[in-house]
Amino acid sequence: MVTGLQDKEKMMECVICKQGKTGPGKVTVTLQRGEAIIVFKKVPADVCDNCGEYYLEEQITEQLLDRAESAVKNGTEVEVLKFAA
Ligand SMILES: [Zn+2]
Repeated sequence: MVTGLQDKEKMMECVICKQGKTGPGKVTVTLQRGEAIIVFKKVPADVCDNCGEYYLEEQITEQLLDRAESAVKNGTEVEVLKFAA
């Protein structure tokens, strides 16, 4: 039997350049919330092998927004975080 594991390897056509294919990688994501800038390093994403555009999973995006929100509440102006799932 083949398990569902191979779903994680699926390649998607890049919607930006329409030439590349996306594959798993790590990216740096910068969010700006009001006056605050939060940089997340090593965020897992699907990255285009042609233009470098990246696509985040919805649950990852939610985590980034949550953490950005709490940084803003703490009065952070600039913060660099290593993303850990
Ligand atoms: Zn692309």
